[in-house]
Amino acid sequence: MNSFYINTNRIFNSIRKFAWLFILLVAFGGLWYPKLGLLMIPLMLALGVQGFFKGKYWCGNLCPHGSLFDQFIMPISRNKKIPSFLKSKVMIVLAFSWFMYMLTQRLIKVFALFGAAPFWDRLGFIFVMNYLMVTILGTIFALFVSSRTWCSFCPMGTFQVLSYKLGKLMGLNKKIDKKVTVCSIEKCHTCGKCARVCPMQLTPHLEFTENSQFENEMCIRCATCVENCPAGILILSNTEDGLKVVSEQDLTGYENRQSIKAQIVSVKELQDDINEYILAFKSPQKVDYQPGQFMLIKIQDKPLLFRAFTIASNNIDGKTVKIIIKREPGGYGSEIIFNRFKEGDMVELEGPMGNELIVDKTAQKVLFVANGIGITPFIPLTKDLLTTTNNIKEITLIYGVRYEDQFIYDNYFKELEAEHNKFRYIKVVSRPHNEAEHKKGYVTNIIREMDLIGYKVYICGTKAMTLDTLQLLRDKGVEEEDVFHEAV
Ligand SMILES: Cc1cc2nc3c(=O)[nH]c(=O)nc-3n(C[C@H](O)[C@H](O)[C@H](O)COP(=O)(O)OP(=O)(O)OC[C@H]3O[C@@H](n4cnc5c(N)ncnc54)[C@H](O)[C@@H]3O)c2cc1C
Ligand code: SF4
Ligand code: SF4
Repeated sequence: MNSFYINTNRIFNSIRKFAWLFILLVAFGGLWYPKLGLLMIPLMLALGVQGFFKGKYWCGNLCPHGSLFDQFIMPISRNKKIPSFLKSKVMIVLAFSWFMYMLTQRLIKVFALFGAAPFWDRLGFIFVMNYLMVTILGTIFALFVSSRTWCSFCPMGTFQVLSYKLGKLMGLNKKIDKKVTVCSIEKCHTCGKCARVCPMQLTPHLEFTENSQFENEMCIRCATCVENCPAGILILSNTEDGLKVVSEQDLTGYENRQSIKAQIVSVKELQDDINEYILAFKSPQKVDYQPGQFMLIKIQDKPLLFRAFTIASNNIDGKTVKIIIKREPGGYGSEIIFNRFKEGDMVELEGPMGNELIVDKTAQKVLFVANGIGITPFIPLTKDLLTTTNNIKEITLIYGVRYEDQFIYDNYFKELEAEHNKFRYIKVVSRPHNEAEHKKGYVTNIIREMDLIGYKVYICGTKAMTLDTLQLLRDKGVEEEDVFHEAV
């Protein structure tokens, strides 16, 4: 099975990028000039004070070791699951007690020299050795387990948590304390990406409280989950502001989200790495969905994970739904579906969900932009717009793939084009085998030449294509309110 944990960029600011230099200064420079270790005294005071207000924020944003582990060790780390014992309360208490005991013992010895010439050097050297030891041990754990293993029981992290508990008890950190907050639990895909990228291997998506916040005190507020959530629903916020954001969410398209039991009634291979699944609803037996929405399909229980797939069928009688799935190279969920899901199996769904690609039928002209597997929503959407009563006078679909044999539903779109004058179907291939037959290009090459006055534009595909198209549309003066796409 593919690795559950994902190593991804966590360097979001220059402190995280350069803080590791402090290790060179103290842990190594201190071997020659021990007084450098004295820098640890204000540093420990600072992390204690900020812990009071912001919990383990230091670990995620300012810690030199965190910077070293995230930037240099993470790319070569084995990235394994951190053993439960290393994350347990017993380990945390043991590490903290041992650290405090050793520090106190050494301080008592050195303070006997107070007033003598070597006092400051000896005092500094205590901290130099501590810092060096953390660097060595932390790096070994980071290499052979996961980059932030040490942070699960680091005594300095525990010091911050204790300080934070005091802050909470006194009620003095409510405004400053910014926790991971889910803007709308209804929009969560339960995809677990937040858990998969979390350096502390926490599971925010399973632990949001009534306040929509992630209260786990081990959270280092690094924002990696916020940056990577595919639904774009995570923020770092204090409780008051977070609740305001939650109350302002537009839940159109998510009102009918429900748990559904369904049976796989057919699996058809469209291409080597693309399968089409037809699912029959069993409980409830009818589900009301619209083209442009998506469904979640459960892939495992522990931890609970779903994957989102666009609805690729028109809702005729509400009894079945079609989804088309591409096997992602190295993908965790699509591999499970391709390897284990077969005809006759019962599956659990959540949905229908989503409003970003539900087309405004009062529009005059509509442009659909798709690449790769992003074509799926436009299969039912095109048919729906062409076969129901609406105001739309022109529908253009631009569909890009890498090689010409990668188009799916090609005949379907060709037939719709032949039957309906108002539908235009444009194909582009970025690396055609035969350039005489297929013009080489990207969807953006076609859009660049178009007059987009009066168009509503709907985009679905890779992140790179979506971002390029959005930039081009901005350059062409298309208003933001006329452009629709899922979170990128
Ligand atoms: C609203 C919505 C609709 C969707 N509709 C469809 C659809 O109709 N059809 C379809 O096929 N898909 C669709 N998707 C995508 C689908 O939900 C899954 O994201 C996709 O199948 C890949 O999931 P996975 O678990 O196989 O891949 P994942 O394991 O989640 O991997 C996804 C990507 O993450 C990165 N990654 C994973 N592991 C690592 C690692 N160890 N190190 C570094 N990077 C890593 C890679 O870039 C990889 O390509 C949709 C997604 C959304 C949000
Ligand atoms: S959508 Fe996925 S990444 Fe975002 S909160 Fe939900 S489970 Fe986490
Ligand atoms: S839950 Fe999010 S913010 Fe907290 S440690 Fe994990 S990735 Fe960082």
